[in-house]
Amino acid sequence: MKAAVYHPKRRFEVTELPTPKPGPGEVLIKVNRSAICGTDVHAFMYDLAPDGSVLGHEFAGTIAAVGSGVTRWKAGDRVIGGGGEWPVGHEPPVRVHPRYNYRTMGFTNTRSRGYAEYTILEEWAPLAIPDGVPDEAASLTEPCSVAVHAVRKSALRLGDTVGVIGAGPIGLLVTQAALAAGAGRVIVAEPAPGRATAARSAGAETVIDPFEQDTVEQMVALTGGRGPDVMFDCAGLKNTLQQAFDSVKRAGQVILVAVPWEPLPLLPAEWMAREIDFRSSWGGLPEDWRISLDLMRQGKISAQVLMSDTSFITLDQIQPTFVSLMKPTTQLQVVIRM
Ligand SMILES: [Zn+2]
Repeated sequence: MKAAVYHPKRRFEVTELPTPKPGPGEVLIKVNRSAICGTDVHAFMYDLAPDGSVLGHEFAGTIAAVGSGVTRWKAGDRVIGGGGEWPVGHEPPVRVHPRYNYRTMGFTNTRSRGYAEYTILEEWAPLAIPDGVPDEAASLTEPCSVAVHAVRKSALRLGDTVGVIGAGPIGLLVTQAALAAGAGRVIVAEPAPGRATAARSAGAETVIDPFEQDTVEQMVALTGGRGPDVMFDCAGLKNTLQQAFDSVKRAGQVILVAVPWEPLPLLPAEWMAREIDFRSSWGGLPEDWRISLDLMRQGKISAQVLMSDTSFITLDQIQPTFVSLMKPTTQLQVVIRM
């Protein structure tokens, strides 16, 4: 099978590997669509992935073969590569151990292999793709679950005004998830014109251009001087968390969704007297994956708004694509067509 194998110093080698065989309790998945995640771009940029690993954890495909004892799946079933409920005792330590944090435990996810024609998962791990959800959309279930998780962690209530900073894939999905959850209106701050257009397609009422306008001033002015009820920081840039705190209404809530990789200058005196609630959100749980697929099936979340003509590449284009994604990008979501 064809696979993109990672080698140190930012190098993918597209090569032939033996097609794996499913062991007992495992399934072989033929990967059809594989989305490129910011986490993988980060692993590439900082050379975090182990030599010889095949990355990629956002994929959709079909069951090609099942190992002995597998009862849940048969060949031909359409699945995504994650979202299954962990069997009791197999919960990842990051979810159950009070101090475990894979941010500081290193990048060890060597079993994800969506950047290959075939991959193996344990039978509990995949989720069935509902009829009517195309593979391209289904491959984005993982980032969608991140957005659904963030919205479900928030204090958002019916009719609330939501502010979203950053309209990359996660910001666009948070915008749609917030509206699906009953937000009255969503105001987005995003400088890249392509992403601003996508934010409007995602349902944003107004898109602020932070290069032309002051994000905080606009967020406050557009809400009659109050500020949004809930602010989602989906950019994670040096000044965006402070902007979220400064924008949100008194006793409103700020949710950090993006991962800032550098120290942030925060000036709490500017906003703490307004008694703001702060919460961080990380990844998605199996329930968030199921809800994501259901929202896509119902048309309440569209993966289409994250994609354009330039969204699709072949596996052979993976190296230049990752190099280009390291720079601040105006690209929306990139998906590999296997
Ligand atoms: Zn991801």
